[in-house]
Amino acid sequence: MQKIKTPRVKWYGTWYEATGITAPQTHDLGAISADYDVAIMGAGLAGLSAALHLAELGAKVIVIESKEIATGASGRNGGFCSAGWAAPESRLINDVGPRHAQVLEALAIEGRDAMRARAFSPAYHAAMAKAGILNLTLSAPEGHELKAKDLSRFIKGPRYLAGHIDPVGFHFHPLNFMRLLAQDCMAAGVTLIEGHEAQCSLSPKAGYVNVTLGPTEHRFRALNIIWATGGYGDTKPPMLSRFLLPIRTFISVTAPMSTLLDEHIPTHLALGDDRRAGNYFRRLPDGRLLWGMGISAVSKPSSETIARTALADIKAHLPDLAQAMQSQEIGFDFAWSGNMAYARHFMPYVGALGPRSFALAGFGGHGMNTGFVAGRVLAQHLCGLQSEIASFDAIKKAPVYGRLGLLAAEGHYHLRRIQDRLAEYRVGGF
Ligand SMILES: Cc1cc2nc3c(=O)[nH]c(=O)nc-3n(C[C@H](O)[C@H](O)[C@H](O)COP(=O)(O)OP(=O)(O)OC[C@H]3O[C@@H](n4cnc5c(N)ncnc54)[C@H](O)[C@@H]3O)c2cc1C
Repeated sequence: MQKIKTPRVKWYGTWYEATGITAPQTHDLGAISADYDVAIMGAGLAGLSAALHLAELGAKVIVIESKEIATGASGRNGGFCSAGWAAPESRLINDVGPRHAQVLEALAIEGRDAMRARAFSPAYHAAMAKAGILNLTLSAPEGHELKAKDLSRFIKGPRYLAGHIDPVGFHFHPLNFMRLLAQDCMAAGVTLIEGHEAQCSLSPKAGYVNVTLGPTEHRFRALNIIWATGGYGDTKPPMLSRFLLPIRTFISVTAPMSTLLDEHIPTHLALGDDRRAGNYFRRLPDGRLLWGMGISAVSKPSSETIARTALADIKAHLPDLAQAMQSQEIGFDFAWSGNMAYARHFMPYVGALGPRSFALAGFGGHGMNTGFVAGRVLAQHLCGLQSEIASFDAIKKAPVYGRLGLLAAEGHYHLRRIQDRLAEYRVGGF
């Protein structure tokens, strides 16, 4: 095969921004009242879900977003939504015990189903939801319903040994989904402020939290605050920084190539493999291929480097497609990264951080179902209703040790990549 040229990236934003519906008109500072029941920091999926559920339960809610709605992971992710958590089930059982693990797994299914109902509803047409995820294996073919010979109906990739289809999982345009969700929040009475960071201080009598918005010095009070800041932001409470690491991951999107995709990936299912640092990819409605890959705790690669890595990956897993892209001079139009918040045990923190302060963060690479359902659980808890919060309380806080932790995480991911290659080499001999 010919050497593949360094790809050219034409556009530096995300494909979602380029194809997104108009962002909703949020509130200006003049709309802020003196008092709220709950102030939420961060307008990602977790923050907006908590806001919507709280408002539906009758709470007076404000969301403060330091940038724009869904500029974090929630508006720039792979767009896969399936059951499960970032932590594998076996680890969950080990960490919290079988009873809480069962509750948490049921919540993850509820989260997927709630997202699915919303994404496929007529009002969310712009979320472009499509059903089905094909999970591919590179190293363990046993127990999969689709054997290698069946896979050619879906993908022309010699490395994939077997697979199974999750028909309930789905894929969608996450930024459009988030913009529609923000509209629903405002329709439910939530005040939504963009472009401000908040300083929060507990009042001496601990009856409420004073919130000051920088740089305007605009002030209000809230009975409770929720930190739903994901893997972003410098002003979160030390309690959260001590227990979560920001981990980066990467996505590239090719130029349109429908005819090639009809031949090499003749399916509209989303696809993902079972590497420890897995690849996930899917056809987009305008004939492009979205390719997601890799994780890093320390590096900040340029768009060109992200696209180059994607092409190397495609070349390794779909060599004929890479060859055809090369001969037809099809490159990448988009390449971007995003931050995820990870705890050492890969589970989120949902619940009390301190007096009147709550965490709703740490959903890792599996937040599209879990972030939504965790927002529902915390909302019910804050409204004094029965909820599954005890199962989140069972997740222990594990310190991440700052810069040292980032370096350790990077080493861990390198090791996982080597383990993947060895496993694939043992099975496939390449
Ligand atoms: C590239 C990529 C691909 C992914 N693919 C998938 C996938 O296919 N499926 C899946 O399930 N998950 C995926 N994930 C993970 C998923 O996107 C996240 O788990 C989820 O979006 C986390 O939601 P969140 O609300 O916790 O955080 P975010 O969406 O990151 O939201 C946090 C928000 O808080 C704001 N903020 C930060 N600090 C402050 C502050 N002090 N004050 C006010 N606002 C603040 C940020 O600007 C941001 O908007 C992916 C993540 C990335 C980065």
